[in-house]
Amino acid sequence: MKIFNSLSGRLEEFKPLSKGKVNIYVCGITPYDTTHLGHAFTYISFDVLIRYLKFKGFNVNYTQNVTDINDRDKDILERAKKLNVPWNKLADFWTQKFLTDMAALNWVFPNHYLKASKQIPQVIDLIQKLLKKSLAYRVNDSVYLDISKISDYGKLSEYNQAKMLKIAPNFEEDLECPEKRNPLDITLWRATKPNQPAHIPSFPSPYGAGRPGWHIECSAISISSLGEQIDIHGGGRDLKFPHHEAEIAQSEGATGKIPFAKYWLHTGVVYYQGEKMSKSKGNLVMVSELLKKYSCNAIRWLLLSHRWNKTWEFTEEKLIKAQKKVDFIEKILALQNNTSQSELIHQFTQILDNNLDTPKALQFLLRLAKQNNPGLKKLYEVLGFLN
Ligand SMILES: [Zn+2]
Repeated sequence: MKIFNSLSGRLEEFKPLSKGKVNIYVCGITPYDTTHLGHAFTYISFDVLIRYLKFKGFNVNYTQNVTDINDRDKDILERAKKLNVPWNKLADFWTQKFLTDMAALNWVFPNHYLKASKQIPQVIDLIQKLLKKSLAYRVNDSVYLDISKISDYGKLSEYNQAKMLKIAPNFEEDLECPEKRNPLDITLWRATKPNQPAHIPSFPSPYGAGRPGWHIECSAISISSLGEQIDIHGGGRDLKFPHHEAEIAQSEGATGKIPFAKYWLHTGVVYYQGEKMSKSKGNLVMVSELLKKYSCNAIRWLLLSHRWNKTWEFTEEKLIKAQKKVDFIEKILALQNNTSQSELIHQFTQILDNNLDTPKALQFLLRLAKQNNPGLKKLYEVLGFLN
């Protein structure tokens, strides 16, 4: 099987670190708002990859985190303050909504689904390792990763310092913090400020009360649940820098094991009305709204009719067409017995082995349906369609 690895920038033969086993980590949501189609595209793309790896006989161990706490004042904390609810209640509420939406899309639940707020000891353990190796420094009660000590910092995105400085403000709130040696140094632990408002959570640590940075959470959760090195690390394309770059620096710095993740998989962006679907643009298409009008299988068909690492634009017309296609397939399936045919499986795996070419796999299924081929049902289920 060939898969596009962002780390090398090319298609690579997929060879896991240990035979027959795949450890995969996918960055999860920051739960303060509802699930939109962009989220669904990322998580259903990995859902199909995981189903397919299992179909091929791999033993898959899959972790996803919930960023219910991080070093930012925005997101959850800002929203919780506005609504006057505790941050953890807000996070639980939206996490549950996300899981309900994803369950309705027949999403494979991860083996480990871990909240950052429950992983503070693992985070502290990793920060201790980085401090011991002098890769991190402490100022007052905060701790930062010194990127000047990481010789290959930037190897995933291949951005230079100027480009990093341009992008970082979209993600980081403390670039100008005078405690930092370099504005791009990564916040590992953010100290609780004196007179900090009560709605901001605070956890004890060897450095003083505070809370973990966003990036260190994923390093800690990945290492503690899957080990120091993993096969696949996934997420949306916009996480490449600073989030994934920081994860590599922290994880490889702390453990000395390179690579932290062998394959980096970044999903494409979903556009709507000519712009990236995002909260700030206000052009979100909610999964829960789509589910009122269209079936799980139609939404899955729509998502999988786009290659996982390509950017695409949503239109309702595409979803109407997807619904018609799955309705047609299901009508055929209702009259069939489930038989599996090795020649069909061979053709199907040849398609998906080429960088998980789901658009082509869907065309293949449609052809089988038109031929009333009894091998259809098995392959339809491999892609996670409900039947
Ligand atoms: Zn992450």
